[in-house]
Amino acid sequence: MKRIAVLTSGGDSPGMNAAIRAVVRAATYHDLGVYAVDRGYQGLIENRIRPMSARDVGGIINRGGTILRTARCKAFMETEGRAQAAANLKSHSIEGLVVIGGDGSYRGAQALDAEHGIRCIGLPGTIDNDIGGTDYTIGYDTALNIAVEAIDRIRDTAESHERLFFIEVMGRDSGYLSMMSGIAGGAEEILVPETPTDIPALVEKLQHDRRKGKRSSIIVVAEGDDAGRAIDVAHMVSETSEFKDPRVVVIGHLQRGGTPTAFDRILASRLGIRAVEALVQGETGKMVGIHGKSVVLHPLEEAWTNRTLFDPSLIQVAHVLAT
Ligand code: ADP
Repeated sequence: MKRIAVLTSGGDSPGMNAAIRAVVRAATYHDLGVYAVDRGYQGLIENRIRPMSARDVGGIINRGGTILRTARCKAFMETEGRAQAAANLKSHSIEGLVVIGGDGSYRGAQALDAEHGIRCIGLPGTIDNDIGGTDYTIGYDTALNIAVEAIDRIRDTAESHERLFFIEVMGRDSGYLSMMSGIAGGAEEILVPETPTDIPALVEKLQHDRRKGKRSSIIVVAEGDDAGRAIDVAHMVSETSEFKDPRVVVIGHLQRGGTPTAFDRILASRLGIRAVEALVQGETGKMVGIHGKSVVLHPLEEAWTNRTLFDPSLIQVAHVLAT
């Protein structure tokens, strides 16, 4: 292995830059040529491949987003697209690829490896923390802290005006981020796609809370909750109760940007270095993750066959704390 490349793909997450930096610097450390691919798999197909040096990744460890930009690419789902991508890599004599992204990106990497023998290693970059094979994904901790800060700020105004707020947290398929931010932000109720939402029971709980003397209420709603978006839940509650003027805040993309936390920077740095070591050792079709204090390698499919779910006991934790 003489040359490798790195790309970011799918949804961006804070800490991807720290991972790119670690990959470039580790490759330099191991005397490998290292290339960057701009715009994920789209850039691979369009041959947007350029050499990188250790100095090119200076001053990015603290920056959110991804300096390589990211994309979703339909053409890469087709065999022709992947053949073009592989041909472009081979034209630069690149034999190994580090893919920073979610499980969709990993499926693409697996196909590129199986069809064209490009050695691929995945790094988990997503705020949702729903990828199997790792306790934490790069970007989750930052997004969690942003969501909690938003909840704290909203609680100030909710308390002052004695209001009911619905706060929508990102997570189309996963309630992990909502559950954790709801617990850390002291939410009265947390609605997640993993459990059925019962609107009459929610109304009952809100009324009970007011009778007990709670002056304000914050309900965290995961974007993908089965009852709908936060705005839908707010409508259903106001139509069936005396809470006629609930407020809705969608944290949305605010959660994906901003300075990565120290946790995400360190995680990204450790995983990035291990990804390059894995390529040096001749590994392929693997993802790098963290289990406890250890950096580990798993087959790429671990990402989707063994998805990370929040511990169900946390539902009870949230319930007890909202008493
Ligand atoms: P994420 O990596 O964050 O899960 P996506 O699911 O959007 O994001 O996947 C990112 C990209 O990976 C897609 O736009 C596509 O180019 C590629 N990809 C996803 N699934 C596959 C697949 N089954 N086969 C080949 N490429 C795929």
